[in-house]
Amino acid sequence: MNEPEKLTVTAGKLQVPAFPIIPFIAGDGIGPEIWSAARSVFDKAVRQVYGSSRKISWQRLLAGEAAFKQTGEWLPQATVQSLKEHLVAIKGPLTTPIGKGHRSINVTLRQDLDLYACVRPVNYFKGVPSPVKFPEKVAMTVFRENTEDIYAGIDFAAGTAAADELLAFLTKQHELGKIRFPASSAFAIKPVSSQGSKRLVKAAIQYAVDHHLPRVTLVHKGNIMKKTEGGFKKWGYEAAAEFGDQVFTAEDFKKIEQQTGQAAAEQAQTAAEKEGKIIVNDLITDNFFQQSLLHPENFSVIATLNLNGDYISDALAAQVGGIGISPGANINYQSKQAIFEATHGTAPQFTGQNKLNPTSLILSGVMMFEYLGWQPVADLITQAVREALLKQHVTCDFAQQLPNAVELTTSGFADYLISLM
Ligand code: NAD
Repeated sequence: MNEPEKLTVTAGKLQVPAFPIIPFIAGDGIGPEIWSAARSVFDKAVRQVYGSSRKISWQRLLAGEAAFKQTGEWLPQATVQSLKEHLVAIKGPLTTPIGKGHRSINVTLRQDLDLYACVRPVNYFKGVPSPVKFPEKVAMTVFRENTEDIYAGIDFAAGTAAADELLAFLTKQHELGKIRFPASSAFAIKPVSSQGSKRLVKAAIQYAVDHHLPRVTLVHKGNIMKKTEGGFKKWGYEAAAEFGDQVFTAEDFKKIEQQTGQAAAEQAQTAAEKEGKIIVNDLITDNFFQQSLLHPENFSVIATLNLNGDYISDALAAQVGGIGISPGANINYQSKQAIFEATHGTAPQFTGQNKLNPTSLILSGVMMFEYLGWQPVADLITQAVREALLKQHVTCDFAQQLPNAVELTTSGFADYLISLM
């Protein structure tokens, strides 16, 4: 019988049955519209590739406004439990509740499930309107650390007892002189650990190994935040060293340069590149922003901290057509727990209009099928998206910028993709 089954992990490997149960959170605002469009594309692609021998059994989970209306909770415990049990899930955008004491549901999920790597591939599809001259040079995957940094949410308002205690502590540490206006300052804590940094950098390098990508760049602001972001860089290189012969790092380069001079170091790097070793280097964040616009072809995998990664992934996405088309995933490569998600928000002003672009969620699904090992399904969907965009059959966000485009609705775009499969 074709009974739906849960995914499992055996000997550190994800086991995917032919009829897996995959939970989904449709999301708030435009979420249900883009989810229903994306789901129809996913189901058609699986049918097309595997006939009746494989099928996803979608299981609806409640979160966000829909959950709040039904249960009084924004993120019911039953949802978190089910996500844990089923390992892999997909979601649309969720409203961040406004008001005291509410954490973003997305941040909560990432932290509660320890989804430490936020993975955002940024690739250009021919035909998509872009603000840069050579968007086709952008082909990067960002690995953003997802559980630490200033996103830990340890924030003390100015004038509170906690802020006063912190000031007392800083006085003892002889650091008070560094604070311009102590009495009216709010404070936030930025935890960055060796464990957190290393597991993220290892995931990024492993991704480069698996996908035969030439370069991993550690992006940090270690020149200013020497212990935290500088720590990320130091631990990142330590993590890289564990890959032995598979990598050639900027530290290897430095060592050779000190021992035998710059020409020898350059030769060694060229030889390493020829042998297919991954070049691991690092860049200060502000310089990265500049370089990624001027020479995007120099980058393939980016490993960075939480806040840098937040800015970087949206800035890179803008180069290739914006958030309506950029996919994302939150992954723990040890437990195999993963949530694939649209990277944009709920766009509440467009709710119910069947207008916006479902591609971000559809391409997040492509990432999910790759993660499940159903590569032919991922390829079929990518090919349909590529063809639709090339033929300029697009939703309003792109149609506004393309004079000859055929404007489609959210569901119309999904139907068009299906017709191309
Ligand atoms: P947003 O991403 O919802 O919308 C900003 C603008 O981007 C929209 O007005 C629209 O012009 C464009 N846009 C968004 N999605 C699009 C799509 N699929 N196709 C085409 N254009 C699209 O950002 P916001 O207005 O700042 O946030 C609205 C709500 O979403 C807030 O509650 C916020 O907390 C939440 N949010 C959730 C997530 C998430 O769940 N991952 C991410 C960001 C924001």
